[in-house]
Amino acid sequence: MTDDHPLAPGQSSGADARAPRPDAGRPGAADLPGPDIEAEWSRALKVLDGAAEICLACHVRPDGDALGSMLAVAHALRARGAAAPGGPADPGGAGERPPTAPRVVASFGDLPFEIPRILRFLPGADLLSPPDAFPERPQVMVTFDAASADRLGILEARACQADELIVLDHHASNTGFGTVNLVDPAAAATAVLAFDLIRRMGVEISRDIALGLYAGLVTDTGSFKYSTTSPQVHQLAARLLQTGIEPGVVAHELWDRSPFGFLGLLSTVLGRAQLEPASAAGHGLVWTTVTRGDRAAYRLPFEVAESVIDVVRRADEADVAVVLKEDDEGCWQVSARSKGRTDVGRACVALGGGGHPLAAGFTAHGTAAEVMTALREQLGMGTGAPGRPGAADSGR
Ligand code: AMP
Ligand code: MN
Ligand code: MN
Repeated sequence: MTDDHPLAPGQSSGADARAPRPDAGRPGAADLPGPDIEAEWSRALKVLDGAAEICLACHVRPDGDALGSMLAVAHALRARGAAAPGGPADPGGAGERPPTAPRVVASFGDLPFEIPRILRFLPGADLLSPPDAFPERPQVMVTFDAASADRLGILEARACQADELIVLDHHASNTGFGTVNLVDPAAAATAVLAFDLIRRMGVEISRDIALGLYAGLVTDTGSFKYSTTSPQVHQLAARLLQTGIEPGVVAHELWDRSPFGFLGLLSTVLGRAQLEPASAAGHGLVWTTVTRGDRAAYRLPFEVAESVIDVVRRADEADVAVVLKEDDEGCWQVSARSKGRTDVGRACVALGGGGHPLAAGFTAHGTAAEVMTALREQLGMGTGAPGRPGAADSGR
C-alpha cells in the first residue's frame, strides 16, 4: 500500500475512505504499483465473498466495454452463488460461503433506462434493472469503466453512500473514488480487469461471460486495430473464443448494421464536416455535428451518432477528429480522437470531461460554435505527442 491509498490493509471502510487520493487527477495517479494491486485484489475478493447483496453499475450511455464487463461479472456472481458450497446447488452444504447466493442488482444511471440497441445481443438483459431498483445505501457496489463517480449519472449518489465501493476501470484519469480501486491504465479495456476478477473468483468462463468480455475487448481495441492491442489482448480473445462464441456475430452486431436511415444521417453530417488544417497546433482538426434535428429527420436514437466519429477520423489531413452529438436533452456529448500528436484527453479533462490521451470526450452546453471555440483553444495548447502517430486508441 502506498501512503496515498485511501485505505490501509485491514482498515475498515466508510464514507471517509472515499476521499480522492491526494494525487488524483495526476496522469498515472491510478497506476498502482505491483504489490499494491495484489492487495487490492485480495480486498476486493474478501468484500465480495462476504456480501449478501452486490450492486453493479457501469457508466451512463454504456458502450460494449462498460455493459459487457458488468454483465460478465453479473453472470459470474450468479454462477458462483449457484455453485458455492451451501448455495442453491448445494442445499444443506456446510461450506464457508454464505448459505444463499448474493442478490445481484445491475444497472446504469440513465433515465429513461434503455439498453443501447447495438448491445441488446448480449445475454443477460434479465440481470439488469432500472437505476431506481438500486438500494439507497448499497453495502457493496462495483463500478465498471467509470473514471469518476459523476460518470455513473443518477447512480453517483448511491456510489457515494456505498459502504464498500469496488472500482474496476482502465482510465488513466481515474480519480480513485472507490474504497477498493482496481484501476489499470495499461489494460486495453475494463473487460481485461473483469476477466481477472472472474478468474480470481474461481468461476469458469461460460459462453455468456465470454460474450460480455469479448464485446468489451473488441469495442475498446476497435476490433484489434488500436495501439492497445497486445499479445495479451489476443491471448485473452483466444481464451474467450474457446467457449464457442462467434466473433463474426459480435462484429456484425456492433459495427455492421444500422437502420437504413443511418445512411441518410451519415450523408448529412459528413457533408457538413469542416477541415481546419491550422487547428490543434497545426496538426489539423476535422469536425462535425449530429443534431437532434438530424436524428429526428431519420427517426434515429442518440446511440446511432456514436459511430460517426469512426468515419470522421479517417481524414488524413487532421490529427484530431471531433463529433458534437446533441442528446435528447439538448446537451452536446462530444467525442474526440487523436492520431497521436495531440493529447485530446488533456483537452477534454480541461473542459470537464475525461478519457484517454487518444480518445476522450466531454459534455457541453451552448451553441456548437461556442463549444468548438473552447475546444480549439484547449487543442491549441499542444503538450506534446501522447503516442505514436497513427496509433489511434479507442478509449471507450
Ligand atoms: P466516446 O467518445 O464516447 O467513445 O468516449 C471516449 C472516451 O472519453 C471514453 O473513455 C469515455 O469514458 C470518455 N468520455 C466520453 N464522454 C465523456 C464525458 N462526458 N465525461 C467524461 N468522460 C467522457
Ligand atoms: Mn466506456
Ligand atoms: Mn473502456
